[in-house]
Amino acid sequence: MSYKPADKIQDLQYFGEFGGVNPSISDASTYTFLSAKTMFDTFEGNADGCYLYARHSTPSNLYLGEALAAMEGTETANVTASGMGAITPVLLQLCGANDHIVSSRTIYGGTYAFLKNFTPKLGIATTFVDITKLDVVEAAITKNTKVLYCESVSNPLLEVADIKGLSALAKKHHLQLVVDNTFSPLSISPAKLGADIVIHSLTKFINGASDTVGGVVCGSKEFINDLRNVNDGAAMLLGATMDSLRASSVLKNMRTLHIRIKQHSNNAIFLADKFQSDGLKTVYPGLATHPSHRLFKKMMNTEYGFGGMLTIDVGSLDKANALMELMQQKNLGYLAVSLGFYKTLFSAPGSSTSSEIPEEEQKEMGLSDGLIRFSIGLDNDIERTYILMKNCMKEVGVL
Ligand SMILES: *Cc1c(COP(=O)(O)O)cnc(C)c1O
Repeated sequence: MSYKPADKIQDLQYFGEFGGVNPSISDASTYTFLSAKTMFDTFEGNADGCYLYARHSTPSNLYLGEALAAMEGTETANVTASGMGAITPVLLQLCGANDHIVSSRTIYGGTYAFLKNFTPKLGIATTFVDITKLDVVEAAITKNTKVLYCESVSNPLLEVADIKGLSALAKKHHLQLVVDNTFSPLSISPAKLGADIVIHSLTKFINGASDTVGGVVCGSKEFINDLRNVNDGAAMLLGATMDSLRASSVLKNMRTLHIRIKQHSNNAIFLADKFQSDGLKTVYPGLATHPSHRLFKKMMNTEYGFGGMLTIDVGSLDKANALMELMQQKNLGYLAVSLGFYKTLFSAPGSSTSSEIPEEEQKEMGLSDGLIRFSIGLDNDIERTYILMKNCMKEVGVL
């Protein structure tokens, strides 16, 4: 039976201090103690339920974290100021000088840049691999490897990671499997498939309003406590803390996540099907032609569909740009990076979100110039949207 993440979120119940239907917002950066002894214990990490200082935790951040932990089926979670503010402390908590990471080569541009350009300065080396080939992944593991890193559905090529297979490798070699699940919230539950740590950029589908950045790390109590440790916790010390006001607004947006994901998925599969029938090179995990279609189906929580992300390849950057500009003019979506908005968003990843990846490597991984990444919106009448998009494609000579 598949996991029911939205039901787990719904089963949580928090009240405000006056019986409010939403929890009260904790409007404080610091917290008083009735006794000096309790303050000391809290610094030592021995006073459960006591709040110390807002960079450590706040009631509002804990409410949001518990909802996200319920969604992913982990013991607990720590919310952060951005997705990168979740990814970087996790990797720095798990790795130090002379340690090694095996990472998928098709990952978010910022994560790629962090592993390629930044962590080597700290003596942390990364080998980038084709994550869909488990034998290649295993061959890259060395005695110094500490972490296996991937995205469940990768950015921007929509490759699908075999999380169960990777988890078996991680266990065999005593590694931590860290999965960025930003592209497939609700649809895929990586922790249920064996991931040790699940990360999201809340900026995207989970908040869904394109009005803030945010992130979360979902994992065991032990690991999350380590991250927040006042002496050596990377989240605590690097300081990418979410503000309580923002945590409360993200939590409220999460209430509609299941409805939005279903609509994103329904709209995306409709368009992907049509685009493919029209002869466009279309990549969408819900299409039977996707190389990992069956794997996705095996992993997914069926009711949420295959997600809102799809790509088409229109052959050249010029055509991609002309098409995106025209679609924006016709109000079919926005030429913008990011994803998970009510409106369709599109961009050419080769020259934008993945521009951190050198051209040579882009080619090798199949990231071509004419690739357009779509985050399909919540359009009420997707058939109408399709007809209007098709008109644009004909006008710029893509069809
Ligand atoms: C956007 C994104 C991130 C980074 O999140 P921010 O909130 O922008 O810091 C990480 N991973 C994936 C897959 C993303 O799409």
